[in-house]
Amino acid sequence: MKITADFHSHTRYSHGTGTVEDNVLAAMSLGLRALAITDHGERHPLVGVKPSRFDEMRRDVLTVAKENRFRVLLGIEANILSPRGEIDLSEEDADKLDIVLAGFHLTAYPPRFRDYFALPFNGLTRYICKNSARQKAMNTDAFVRAVTENRIDVLTHPGFRIDVDLKAVGEACAAVGTYMELSSRHRTPDLKGAEAAANAGAKFIINSDAHKPALVGKCDYALELADKLGLGEDEVVNVSDRPVVFRRGLEV
Ligand SMILES: [Zn+2]
Ligand SMILES: [Zn+2]
Repeated sequence: MKITADFHSHTRYSHGTGTVEDNVLAAMSLGLRALAITDHGERHPLVGVKPSRFDEMRRDVLTVAKENRFRVLLGIEANILSPRGEIDLSEEDADKLDIVLAGFHLTAYPPRFRDYFALPFNGLTRYICKNSARQKAMNTDAFVRAVTENRIDVLTHPGFRIDVDLKAVGEACAAVGTYMELSSRHRTPDLKGAEAAANAGAKFIINSDAHKPALVGKCDYALELADKLGLGEDEVVNVSDRPVVFRRGLEV
């Protein structure tokens, strides 16, 4: 099994090392049929992309797509910010993009100071609260609300640096049509978590989350994980030539 398109890659617009074109050339060399450019949302410290740059990025993506005759999508990897499941992207700004990914990043700025102590956003709460049942329930609720209350196409690396109940999150994703990412870069979810999500009816997408061009399309961990769980074309949306239909309406 191999992926036919990679829907999660970073460029110099956030803290990737390559340009849009570098990533695209890497994707083309692997025979992929599409690549999404999904740099970090604006509340990712120092490197987050402000929506005011979306127009400039769109021009870049269009130029590279045209010159290389290749399908390039413009997206973002938004941050899940609070126990209320807020993300750092408005619907209005999301409409300027082709695809919306969202995930939890330990260092993202929450909207209110007290939220630092609600989700394990920083080193302190992360180690104090890690793995307590109450914390896990709160984290899980945040993820469920994030996918329920925002039109997120892909939930990235679920379980990375945050303890969540992947059965509950998988059920929520299945109910609303958000794909759950199997992440090679962060090696999440783990086997048990992915199995729980699969049993809950979640559909998966396998992405590289490449931060350098050489890693675009490289998904060994996630492909092995899918294989171990017996997940195939019916459960993983981007390992065949079937069109991938995203929650926000894009078909690739
Ligand atoms: Zn991420
Ligand atoms: Zn990423």
